[in-house]
Amino acid sequence: MMQRTLFRRGALLAQKAAVEVSLLPMSAPLQPRLDRAMSSVTIPPPKCMLRPLEVPFRYLFGPGPSNVPPRVLAAGGRGIIGHLHPEMYEIMNDIKKGIQYAFQTQNNMTIAMSGSGHAAMECAVFNTVELGESVLVAVNGIWGERVAEIAERMGANVHIMVKAPGGVFSNGEIEKALAKHKPVLFFLTHGESSAGLAHPVDGIGDLCRKHNTLFLVDTVASLGASPIFMDQQNIDILYTGSQKALNAPPGTAPISFNERACQKMFNRKTKPVSYLFDMAHLSNYWGNDGQPARLYHHTGPVSGFFSLRESLAILAEKGLEESWRHHKEVAGYLWKGLEDMGLKLFIQNKDLRLPSVTTIAIPEGYNWREMLQYIMKHHNMEMTGGLGPSTGMVKQMGWLDNQCREESTLLLSRLSH
Ligand code: PMP
Repeated sequence: MMQRTLFRRGALLAQKAAVEVSLLPMSAPLQPRLDRAMSSVTIPPPKCMLRPLEVPFRYLFGPGPSNVPPRVLAAGGRGIIGHLHPEMYEIMNDIKKGIQYAFQTQNNMTIAMSGSGHAAMECAVFNTVELGESVLVAVNGIWGERVAEIAERMGANVHIMVKAPGGVFSNGEIEKALAKHKPVLFFLTHGESSAGLAHPVDGIGDLCRKHNTLFLVDTVASLGASPIFMDQQNIDILYTGSQKALNAPPGTAPISFNERACQKMFNRKTKPVSYLFDMAHLSNYWGNDGQPARLYHHTGPVSGFFSLRESLAILAEKGLEESWRHHKEVAGYLWKGLEDMGLKLFIQNKDLRLPSVTTIAIPEGYNWREMLQYIMKHHNMEMTGGLGPSTGMVKQMGWLDNQCREESTLLLSRLSH
């Protein structure tokens, strides 16, 4: 009896305490408030940190990040496990298989970088190039410029082939430059988002083999939206980002190296300039080096990997061909709608347009910054201007899987009013 009364009193006290705590504003951490009177810190907690996080809803029609579907968001919100737990290794193994499917490759040396697309770019260059070696970069938008700078910073001997934004390099031009500069690495962007171009890739891998060059391709803006076949097209190194047509949050970047690339990067005379991006360590972390144990190298982005796994699972369920077909079909509606509104598309040849990022030539007499600000303010939609050499020339509209629907074209038709 006595025990029951005590229990009831205890329960009542606990209930009262819970009510008191629940009456405090959610954002005010209890302990710092209690401690403040005897505080030894001279910098007070910033006021903004005592307010709840606010994130507005936005229609993300820019070239990434894209709106993330609830299933992928939910995966990222799962409880954290250790980055070296066996269950995490299983999830990483699944990710590796998902990337192999998305890239159409059987490469063992396939991983996801802890970092954005730039991490994959740097990883590719840092691991396959040594100081003073020749690198050839095709520049027809910002991404070639970026890779040229990365290679230059690490001390490579960089040669660039330059075209205006959206320009296409013929295989003949590429072969001539390969023969002249004898690079160890040739870089090309498949989906040049700053210009809205899907650059043809066929035949270039064979030319690179003939000239003993590794072929590096950027598919950050195109993977899942525009066909790419890593093995069949003899691409030696391929990378992408999580936040575009894969519809995962930014922060992870799939990359794959074939045997030729592994031969070069694992027979270096010097260590790569970056410890974090050293593939000798990363291949062990991803269980690719045949060693019995995976050792600590860095703490991978556990939640980011959960989300990436889920987005790759969605792609596998849908099927690559369906994903390519769907992007092309809905991009076709967008292109027609824009042209019907009297706008000019920047890439005139339909076959060379990137289905995931459409570029509109800025109409004469319009200020592109003001246009973008107007669309954001009145329609809550993000679109962006050009980047690097295409700045001021184009307006970029992302059509990245989750947004790539017929309803989106209806939503966008608001802009014509
Ligand atoms: N390459 C291309 C083609 C891109 O579109 C982007 C991102 N816009 C990047 C590389 C860089 O990716 P991140 O911003 O994730 O570093």
